Amino acid sequence: MTVWAAREHHRFEAAGKPFVYLVPSAAIFEIDETADAVLRALRERPRSREDLAGGVGVDAALAELLRVQAIGERDAPAAKTPKIIPLAPFPLTTMVLNVTNQCNLSCEYCYEYGEDKIVDTENGKQPKFMSEQTARDSVDFMLKESGTNPVAHVTFFGGETLLNFPVLQQTIVYARQRAAELGKQVDFSLTTNGTLLKPEVIEFLAENRVGVTISIDGPKEVQDKFRVFHNGTGSYDVVAPKIKELLKRHTSRPIGARVTLTSGKMDVKRIYKHLTEEIGFWEVGFAPVTTAPNRGHALSDRGYDEMLEQFRDLAYEFLEASVDNRHHGFSNVKETLAELHKGVSKAFPCGAGLGLLGVATDGDVALCHRFAGSDAHKLGTVRDGIDRDAQRAFLESHHIADKTDCSTCWARPLCSGGCYHEAHTRYGDTQRPNLHYCDWIRGWTDVCLTIYGELAVRNPAFLAQFDDERAKEPVS
Ligand code: SF4
Ligand code: SF4
Repeated sequence: MTVWAAREHHRFEAAGKPFVYLVPSAAIFEIDETADAVLRALRERPRSREDLAGGVGVDAALAELLRVQAIGERDAPAAKTPKIIPLAPFPLTTMVLNVTNQCNLSCEYCYEYGEDKIVDTENGKQPKFMSEQTARDSVDFMLKESGTNPVAHVTFFGGETLLNFPVLQQTIVYARQRAAELGKQVDFSLTTNGTLLKPEVIEFLAENRVGVTISIDGPKEVQDKFRVFHNGTGSYDVVAPKIKELLKRHTSRPIGARVTLTSGKMDVKRIYKHLTEEIGFWEVGFAPVTTAPNRGHALSDRGYDEMLEQFRDLAYEFLEASVDNRHHGFSNVKETLAELHKGVSKAFPCGAGLGLLGVATDGDVALCHRFAGSDAHKLGTVRDGIDRDAQRAFLESHHIADKTDCSTCWARPLCSGGCYHEAHTRYGDTQRPNLHYCDWIRGWTDVCLTIYGELAVRNPAFLAQFDDERAKEPVS
C-alpha cells in the first residue's frame, strides 16, 4: 500500500488562496482547497489513500500534488541537493572595478574603513588610486573572461569612486573602443556618495548613459548621523542639491539610492518617502549594515524584526501600486520578485567568485568588491587571469550542499547561506551560513511570496516584465 508524504515546501496565502513554494524546484503553485487540505494532512504525518478518506476530489488533488512534486511516496529517498560545480571557464558577467580605496567621507559603519575592515587601505600594499594602465588591463581581462556573452557589465566602485574620475572617464572610452572591435557592448554603472557630483561629472555620466547608484541614508538628521566628512560635518547639505542636479540632467537611466540601515535609523517608510518624493530617486534599495554584532550600530534581533515589519508595510505599498500599474521604487521587493518569477534556486548565495569579480586598485582579482585587495580572497590578477585552482577550491568549499545548517531550510533556494562578506565579518569565515538572520530572511521571503501570489492573481501582466530581464549580477 502506497503511503504518501509531504515533500519540502512552504505554504502561504495570497489573494485569499493557498499557494505552495516547492523548495527543490523553487516553483510556485496555487492549489485548491482540497489539495490544501490533503497537504495539511500529509504535513502532520504520512498517510495512505484510505487514511485520507474523501472522494474523487482527493484523488485529483493527490495526482496534482504528485505532479508538482509537493508530495511523494514515504519510502522514496528524499532528493539531495546535487553538488554541481560550474565548469571553468565560467563567463564573467560583472566586473566591479575599485578605482580607488580612498574616501572623502568617514562613515562610522563603513565595512571598508570602520572597525570591521578586511584590508588596510591606508598602509597596505595597494595604491590608493587605480592607474589608467591597470584599468585598461582590467577591461581587457573583462572582455576576455566574458566569453561569448555579448554584453559585459562594468561597475565602478570605491572608496569614493569619483575621487578617481579621470581614470573612470578614460576607462569608459577605452572599453567602448575595445568592445566595438570585438563586436561586444559594455554597460557601465557606478556607486558614489554624491559629494563630488560636479556639473561636468553629471554631464559625462548622462552623456555616457552610466547607471548611477547613490549611497545615501535618508533625510538630513538620518544621513548626518553616520555619513559625515572627516571633520565630523554631516554630508546631507552637500549631497542633496547635487543629487537633484543629477536627477534633473541624467534621465536616460533610472537613478537609485542605496540605504544602509543601522540600529538607530529604522524608519524605512519615511526614508523611502523622503528619497523618492523630496529628492526624486526612481528607486530605493535598503540593506542592513554589515558589521560585527558588538558594534553600536549593529542590528539586534529586535532590529531585524523591526526591519521586517517595515519592509512588509512598504512591500504592500508596492503591491497596491503594481496592481494599478503605477511605479513604485522599493527595489528590494522587485529584485526578489524577479528571482521568484525565474524560479531561481541558488547553489551559491551570489555571483561572487563566479559571474562577478572585484578588482583592487593594483589589479588583483578578488571574490567581489568587498574583498578587493584581500590576499586571503584573491582569485588571480587582471594581467595573469583567473587562478582557476583557487576559484575551483572556493566554489567547492562554499556550495549550499555543504551548508548542513541550511539543508532543511525552505528559504535556501534564494538565500543559500547569505553574503560571504557578512559571514566573514560576523564569524571570520566566508563558509559559514549567516544563521544570525535566518528569521529575517525567511520572513522577508514569505512576504515576497505573498506579494508574488497577489500579483499572479490580481495583475499577472505585471510579472511578465521579469520574463526577459538581462542577466546582471547585483552589486551591494
Ligand atoms: S542562512 Fe538561514 S535562512 Fe539562509 S538558507 Fe541558511 S538556514 Fe536558511
Ligand atoms: S552578496 Fe556579499 S559576497 Fe556576494 S557580491 Fe555582494 S557583498 Fe560580495
